[in-house]
Amino acid sequence: MIRLFVGDDLKAGGQVVPSPEQAHYLIHVMRLSVGAELLLFNGRHGEWSAKVVSIGKGRCDLGVEAPVRAQSGGPDVDLIVAMVKRARLEVIVEKAAELGARRVRLVITQRANAGHANLARLNAIAIEAAEQTGRLDVPEICAAQKLDRVLAEWDAGRRLMFCDEAGDAPPALAALTAPAAPALGWAILIGPEGGFSPAERARCRAVAGAVPVSLGPRILRADTAAIAAMSVWQSALGDWRGT
Ligand code: SAM
Repeated sequence: MIRLFVGDDLKAGGQVVPSPEQAHYLIHVMRLSVGAELLLFNGRHGEWSAKVVSIGKGRCDLGVEAPVRAQSGGPDVDLIVAMVKRARLEVIVEKAAELGARRVRLVITQRANAGHANLARLNAIAIEAAEQTGRLDVPEICAAQKLDRVLAEWDAGRRLMFCDEAGDAPPALAALTAPAAPALGWAILIGPEGGFSPAERARCRAVAGAVPVSLGPRILRADTAAIAAMSVWQSALGDWRGT
């Protein structure tokens, strides 16, 4: 069943007019006709059944029918990733959405590969991934900040899973499952293709709530590391543990 993320409020009997791009997708790519059913979600009101009620030139109208799933969100985990090259960053955003990251926060580090990201494009990728993966919200894509600032403003209630490729950190699963006070939230930090500088590593480890981890004996590319780190976090502390 097609799922569409919309900005509109969703309530029984409501009408939604998708964007021209969404209308094109529904009519010309998915070839829906009047009466076709689909699902709508907006990140606030849960998931609703809907039907195509009219099709015009470059537009269509959707009639909102009934609630299907109540709004819920995944665990409070951010993925903080250094600016890597565009193609790899797009993979990271797509996989972060599928793996349940609540936010993707971009950071600029000393060895970052890029300083600029196309947030509109990353947001579109996050929406498409959320539609495909069945989640009821879309991860927020946060504009790039300098790593120093992120660390200086760190919220002590949030635990930092610092993926440190230097090789002297404890294995990730053991570090995450070690006895510790419950955290208000988590963040996972992944460095750039050139890794973290020694000064950055020291600063990351000094953060209150930092949990330095190793992702194994091999050096992973940033996108692989992001996927691996999200997977081990979801298995240890997140919603892969079952209900
Ligand atoms: N410095 C290395 C280099 O230039 O080949 C690689 C850095 S790696 C591509 C990018 C990021 O992925 C690292 O900064 C770290 O956050 C994470 N990472 C990769 N392999 C890791 C490992 N074995 N353990 C922990 N983190 C790892």
